Amino acid sequence: MLPDNARSAADIRPCIRCGECARVCPSKLLPQQLYWFAGSHDHDNLLRHNLFDCIECGCCDYVCPSNIRLAQHFRFAKAEIAVRDADRARARLARERYESRRLRLATEQERRAERLAEKKRQAAAAADIHARRKVIDEVMQRVEARESSESDSPAS
Ligand code: SF4
Ligand code: SF4
Repeated sequence: MLPDNARSAADIRPCIRCGECARVCPSKLLPQQLYWFAGSHDHDNLLRHNLFDCIECGCCDYVCPSNIRLAQHFRFAKAEIAVRDADRARARLARERYESRRLRLATEQERRAERLAEKKRQAAAAADIHARRKVIDEVMQRVEARESSESDSPAS
């Protein structure tokens, strides 16, 4: 195999679909297919065709009559997928944090509203008791006043 830096771009020719790369792959992969998917950044198909089983041995490079740097493409595609997965994991984490904060704020708001409603209920109950006491006091005062006026008046 020619090392990557020993190959110029002019040495590299289009894939002729000879299938030699698949014949020598120790991981039983289809390097030719992987090469097309890597070129079109088709990550789903790369995963479906077991890109991560590639051990980057370079056997496919060695036999490729078109001098395509297959292993280099596969290495790059793996890095792309790793970056994509990390981005997705970050986005998922951010979404989860946002959702959990939203839930916490909603719960706090609900509890605040419940506390306020309870305070209002207690205040209304206290006002009601106060009003009833006032009525009772007034009645008692009238009764006392009547009794006192009756005891002051001369007996007939
Ligand atoms: S570099 Fe990967 S695809 Fe190529 S022969 Fe090795 S294991 Fe197979
Ligand atoms: S060995 Fe090279 S030319 Fe042949 S199928 Fe594989 S990638 Fe294409």
